[in-house]
Amino acid sequence: MVAKAFETDITLIGGGMAGMTAAIGLADHGFTVTLVDQAPKGDLTAVSYDGRSSALAYASCQLLDAIGVWPHMAPYAQPILEIRVSDGPSLMHLHFDHETLGDGPLGHMVENRHTRLALFARMAELRNIQFLAPEHVSLIERSKTGAKVTLNSGKTIQSKLVIGADGKNSIVRAHACIPVSTIPYAQHGIVCSIEHEFSHCGIAHERFLPSGPFAILPLTGNRSSLVWTEKSHLVETIMGLPDRAFTAEIARRTGDFLGDIKVIGGRWAYPLSLQYAARYTDDCLALIGDAAHSIHPISGQGLNLGIKDIAALIEVLAEARRVGLDIGNSSVLERYGQWRTTDNASVYAITDIFNRLFSNDITPVKIARDLGMAGINKITPLKNFFMAHARGTVGELPKLLRGEKVGP
Ligand SMILES: Cc1cc2nc3c(=O)[nH]c(=O)nc-3n(C[C@H](O)[C@H](O)[C@H](O)COP(=O)(O)OP(=O)(O)OC[C@H]3O[C@@H](n4cnc5c(N)ncnc54)[C@H](O)[C@@H]3O)c2cc1C
Repeated sequence: MVAKAFETDITLIGGGMAGMTAAIGLADHGFTVTLVDQAPKGDLTAVSYDGRSSALAYASCQLLDAIGVWPHMAPYAQPILEIRVSDGPSLMHLHFDHETLGDGPLGHMVENRHTRLALFARMAELRNIQFLAPEHVSLIERSKTGAKVTLNSGKTIQSKLVIGADGKNSIVRAHACIPVSTIPYAQHGIVCSIEHEFSHCGIAHERFLPSGPFAILPLTGNRSSLVWTEKSHLVETIMGLPDRAFTAEIARRTGDFLGDIKVIGGRWAYPLSLQYAARYTDDCLALIGDAAHSIHPISGQGLNLGIKDIAALIEVLAEARRVGLDIGNSSVLERYGQWRTTDNASVYAITDIFNRLFSNDITPVKIARDLGMAGINKITPLKNFFMAHARGTVGELPKLLRGEKVGP
């Protein structure tokens, strides 16, 4: 039997949250998309697959709404009304309140599983997305005018552009010989959810402890998602603690402001590093999401950066098509690359510095950061700048992040 050959505008490798969002956004703007993932579709939404929840910036939610995903996830989204940042037991803290900007919440917390389910639900409404999974890529061949992707099953996909959304260990990036810089942190992010007696009031807490940041992030109902950054060599022991001892360790870090707490569901641990590609494009090829950059979760910006990539790429491709340019053309793609590398680089730098500055207990550093926090709290324009960052509204924003579709 001869395996099927597909012709499509865009081949997207990687059906994670970035890949699926990109597929939907592109299909919603009239492109035909073939999406390929190595995992079976059912695995991608299984409870055990991903225990994380994501803080989605206000601008990311605008994009998800503009491309029709948000209505599928809105019932599971908890608005983030305030962010409180504290340095261990120090009384000094930073406080960001959405009311200061007076324009909706700072963002929303959504369990990744619900985001994935919403993405699948939206994909089912679009006819111009073909999702092939489980499938492995065996060969990528590119010229200046197009690309052919061959899958292990023998299927071939001919397209004008290949997008790599295949995560940190991207084979698309490796295929294009794009160099990548990696800075390991010797830290893991331990993730779990808790149920608690008292309401979180929509407040996200970030506590800086000597081993790294500890985040308590509000979910719908009396539930919160925790991201506990810990030194990697301790993680195996912590992950192996009996439930009671694990809950006691969590309670020691959260304090008593939520009343009685109970860990619900599983525990997950993710190795943390800063990783970024030297460039995001090549002939008929572009990288988005973690395939292009993966950062420390300290500021909850990783996926948000991926969503910004998607918004910029869709805008660049839609404009190229409008003026009759080839969407795989290197000068078209370079505009995307330049737009995003500049913006992303500042976020890599800020998250890296913050993690290093706050993941230690050295007294002079501690005094300096407490004074810094007190200073930011008092200087309104600086505080508003940080809040605008949290909302994802800094820099040259693509239309979709303002909730507007790109015209034909
Ligand atoms: C503890 C933690 C907390 C976080 N919290 C936040 C947060 O609050 N807010 C936020 O914005 N970000 C957060 N992030 C970051 C965010 O989770 C990631 O940036 C995001 O999940 C990356 O999505 P992605 O689709 O680019 O990559 P991935 O999720 O890695 O998806 C890649 C996909 O590609 C597929 N794939 C891989 N290789 C192949 C191949 N060869 N062929 C076919 N398919 C392939 C995989 O199966 C997978 O489905 C957090 C990260 C961590 C570790």
